[in-house]
Amino acid sequence: MAYDYDLFVIGAGSGGVRASRLAAMSGAKVLVAEEDRSGGTCVIRGCIPKKYMVYASEFGRSFEHMKGYGWKVEGASYDHAAFMDKMHREIDRLSGIYARNLRNAGAELIDDRAEFVDPHTLKLVKSGKTITADKILIATGGRPSMPTDVEGIELAVSSNEMFHLDQLPKHIVIVGGGYIAVEFAGVMSGLGVKVCLVIRKETVLRGFDEDVRTHVHDELKRKGVKVIANASPMRIEKGGEKLTVHLSNGETASGDKVLFAIGRLPNTVGLGLEKAGVKLGGHGDIVVDENSRTNVPHIFAIGDVTNRLNLTPVAIREGQAFAQTQYMNRPTTFDHADVPHAVFAQPPVGVVGLTEAEARKKYGVVDVYKTKFRPMKDMLTQDEERVLMKIVVRAEDEKVVGVHIVGPDAPEIIQAVAIAVKMGATKADFDRTCALHPSIAEELVTMREKFVPPELKPV
Ligand code: FAD
Ligand code: NDP
Repeated sequence: MAYDYDLFVIGAGSGGVRASRLAAMSGAKVLVAEEDRSGGTCVIRGCIPKKYMVYASEFGRSFEHMKGYGWKVEGASYDHAAFMDKMHREIDRLSGIYARNLRNAGAELIDDRAEFVDPHTLKLVKSGKTITADKILIATGGRPSMPTDVEGIELAVSSNEMFHLDQLPKHIVIVGGGYIAVEFAGVMSGLGVKVCLVIRKETVLRGFDEDVRTHVHDELKRKGVKVIANASPMRIEKGGEKLTVHLSNGETASGDKVLFAIGRLPNTVGLGLEKAGVKLGGHGDIVVDENSRTNVPHIFAIGDVTNRLNLTPVAIREGQAFAQTQYMNRPTTFDHADVPHAVFAQPPVGVVGLTEAEARKKYGVVDVYKTKFRPMKDMLTQDEERVLMKIVVRAEDEKVVGVHIVGPDAPEIIQAVAIAVKMGATKADFDRTCALHPSIAEELVTMREKFVPPELKPV
């Protein structure tokens, strides 16, 4: 049977765009449907605007540091509207590039929402057209999860709205202790907003190494963020401009803005997947095999909609592997192990590999090397911020299985360290690498003493 297209891609985000471009450049007839703006979450309401906001928020601290270096800055002020305007212009430019690159590669891009009619047919919602395709790639990403059991939740915002604030709040309540909550706590605090972070457990960043979690938690508090732990929001109440969040522990947290950042959900609702027979997992995610193939052999899914590792470079690599396998005669699977990741907290976190607990569970005996110190740059300032560096080593063969950094430039450092870890470097390889002085990263190759917990040290 002849189809209208070889490949129909739903979603022009990070993963969809990479897959479409490669498939089209390989000669496939490709149609991409995007219901919002090309670029997806990362470009429009994720990584890119987030990082610009991190940059904007870091200047306040730099002004403080400058005093220690003899600089005097008088009359410095921050114009939120001017910054937002510049940032959104850049986002518009990037979104345009994504659309242009797709078209230059030979793919057709349609500004419409797509939904399945049957396993080979999609309906374009705005135009009402139906299109058939030999293969279909679902790359619809995710969206913020908002609770359904918190009274007054309509008074709160998600991360999406944080990129469109006309003015900064004076006080903000942030609910959640994951990537987004921690990053926005740093951004808002850096911009001078009083921040109250509400977390439902003891500490932030579940899934990260325990030392990293404690370090980030302590640094948040040191920067003036009020953290209310072991509390869940029950009800939000409005009184004038003030929003009050009533918590399960009896406390309240108030602000003129309330942000919920409690995770994201795969964008599968209303896609008509039942009409195509595509199987979903427990979180509404699309279940795929290592080739990103669903249970329906000609339908594939990549990126956040599969809820594997919800990061931009992962969506891109999954899209690339799909196109190489299906259209370029280069069967490729993406290896999800040792993907470096960062939390753009202040100071930021950079991680590759396993946490100490994961490594102990997987390998039994592990050696740990860790250090905490004040970075050289802060010595002439009043800043008491500390750097944390930790290396987790598999004892049987000294292979480095995890590196964890919290400190200035941690994401930049970890990207390079990830090459060594991916190559299987051992602690001895780290040790025989000469230090670069003076730098923060040199600590990675100068830690010689295994960490022994105080309770195990000989008296
Ligand atoms: P997306 O980029 O979300 O693209 C999906 C696209 O599909 C969207 O454009 C959507 O409009 C479209 N779509 C959905 N349904 C339909 C439909 N039925 N028809 C047509 N179009 C449809 N990751 C990092 O690696 N580093 C970071 O620093 C980082 N920061 C982040 C900060 C925030 C605030 C958020 C929310 C996320 C962040 N992420 C970060 C995660 C990253 O943005 C995602 O992992 C990545 O964008 C996933 O790409 P994707 O292609 O799967 O989906
Ligand atoms: P995360 O999964 O990182 O964190 C969710 C947080 O919300 C956890 O602290 C969780 O607590 C808490 N939580 C969940 N449900 C509730 C609830 N009902 N009430 C109160 N708290 C709750 O989600 P995010 O939204 O922060 O980010 C989504 C994903 O986006 C990330 O996992 C990541 O993949 C990606 N991302 C990546 C970034 C980066 O690379 N720098 C930046 C931003 C996002 P608990 O720990 O107790 O479960």
